[in-house]
Amino acid sequence: MIIKLKNNASASQLETLKEILRANNIEPHISSGHLETIIGCVGDIAHIDPGLIEALDIVESVQRIQEPYKAANRKFHPDDSVIDCSGVKIGGGAFSVIAGPCSVESEEQIVYCAKAVKEAGATMLRGGAFKPRTSPYAFQGLGEEGIRLLNLAKKETGLPIVTELMDFKDIECFNDVDVIQIGARNMQNFNLLKEVGAYTKKPILLKRGMSATIQELLMSAEYIIASGNPNVILCERGIRTFETALRNTLDLGVVTLLHRLSHLPVVIDPSHATGHSWMVDSIAVAATAIGADGLIIEVHNDPPRAKCDGAQSQTPKMFAETMKKISSVRNAIANW
Ligand code: PEP
Ligand code: MN
Repeated sequence: MIIKLKNNASASQLETLKEILRANNIEPHISSGHLETIIGCVGDIAHIDPGLIEALDIVESVQRIQEPYKAANRKFHPDDSVIDCSGVKIGGGAFSVIAGPCSVESEEQIVYCAKAVKEAGATMLRGGAFKPRTSPYAFQGLGEEGIRLLNLAKKETGLPIVTELMDFKDIECFNDVDVIQIGARNMQNFNLLKEVGAYTKKPILLKRGMSATIQELLMSAEYIIASGNPNVILCERGIRTFETALRNTLDLGVVTLLHRLSHLPVVIDPSHATGHSWMVDSIAVAATAIGADGLIIEVHNDPPRAKCDGAQSQTPKMFAETMKKISSVRNAIANW
């Protein structure tokens, strides 16, 4: 349910209304936009009579939200959410490029990649330390040591770091991590979503599950927000379809759709979406042009020897070329 307030509502009247809602076990979320102030109500509203709320002096209107996601809903929060990732903003017109290798492999590798992507204009560094691999025999990531190396690269470059959490038991290793990634395979690990949402308000990069609908993605975001962390960034990385020509099927239309349905920023991952480094450039350009709030791109110093996802990893040189194009697309769309 959302409650639109009249423009002349005073602070004390607002407090009284919040108390009424809380007395009914409803948590009010205030969203003060430039045009209007609304209260998003989360909780069991079945026993509340909207007519009674509407009758209050300060209330303009009351509307029920039909969709099962409430806090992630654009109706609940009409303005774009701008997520602060240790000083780097994303959403609401702020665009950010996260780049780096699929996995952290060594100090030399991650520091080299961090410097190279920063030089090309990336604003955050990615690198997996705890890796979800299809095969138990494949490289599983350096774990805690990988996070230590990411922190070294952060010290060298100043880039905030983004890395995946697979198991809540590892959360203490993430103290100095700036953005916590929840990967596609864990998008519906509801316990993990609840635990991480209750534990931290750090930004969460939530990747769409490989067979998840848009509504399921938004419900997973809802889990994190409902647990206490509103700082969710949605990431589309392609899904499984009948088509096997590419690693995944990317529907860029979801950027426009998610922006309509939700206030959360939307990032595109052209690397996992295609599986081919030679395709990353054009998809990154298209994602930028359609209005994505950011990109996450795999970049490796020596892709043929990468321990994970070499085929889809750009070299620093390819990445620098892509960044030039992205920058000119950003300039072009700023004038639309
Ligand atoms: C990754 O970012 O390296 C990764 C494993 O991504 P996804 O969860 O989208 O497969
Ligand atoms: Mn990868």
